[in-house]
Amino acid sequence: MINENTSRLIDFHCHIDLYEDFNRILEDCVRYKVTTLAVTTTPKAWPRNKELLHSCELIRLGLGLHPQLVEERYQEIERFEKYLTDSPYVGEVGLDAGPRYIRSLELQKSIFTRILQGCSSLGGKILSVHSTRAVTKVLDLLEEHMPPGRGTVVLHWFSGSKSELRRAIDLGCYFSINQKMLVPGPRLELLKVMPIDRLLTETDGPFIRVGDAPIYPSSISKTIVCLGRVLGRSSSEMENILLSNLRSIDSKKNPTLQTS
Ligand code: MN
Repeated sequence: MINENTSRLIDFHCHIDLYEDFNRILEDCVRYKVTTLAVTTTPKAWPRNKELLHSCELIRLGLGLHPQLVEERYQEIERFEKYLTDSPYVGEVGLDAGPRYIRSLELQKSIFTRILQGCSSLGGKILSVHSTRAVTKVLDLLEEHMPPGRGTVVLHWFSGSKSELRRAIDLGCYFSINQKMLVPGPRLELLKVMPIDRLLTETDGPFIRVGDAPIYPSSISKTIVCLGRVLGRSSSEMENILLSNLRSIDSKKNPTLQTS
């Protein structure tokens, strides 16, 4: 039987419910034994995702309210708070100050604050956090509303500066790395500054594409090879490090929700 013990690959940020072919992505996770965090973008999508994914033990489900959707979906925060007790994983949440979303930034901040306060008061949550052009603001809110030991934050697709990275490390954040972050260039230097015991891998599928098709969780094996190359590790060493990082994150999960 396939379970998390036989899984060697981790996709810690994938929008399974946004793929056109749901069965194909499930098959991919199972065939290649990818432990996957299926993030969602609206609380409204939560019950349906739960129903579709609860039978696959490799898939963990994150309760999300995506910052890019906050402007039109902010009323769903109450639903989010209602479902939060049920979910050890939270994501995708965060802030986006890119040109298309900056006008809702104040609203995003108030929603993200409520999310962090809810997570902190329940404790033991693991969050996949978006921080496009807003790393400092995300870190400010984490510092203010998520005291150490009240939750574990994984910054997804980190694209901040070196000093923001330093601060994120000091706040205990983890980092999930995708293929786009591994293209040669100056940003690779940032990966070398991230503590190796705080790294995970992600696809951010289906938004990242390979050629003209969306990326699938099985592509993580390639991400591991590339990441290992950047960090001077063999792919099997890298794989073991990532698995041990996942175990360390799991040990911080709320024990009463361990099986969810
Ligand atoms: Mn995403």
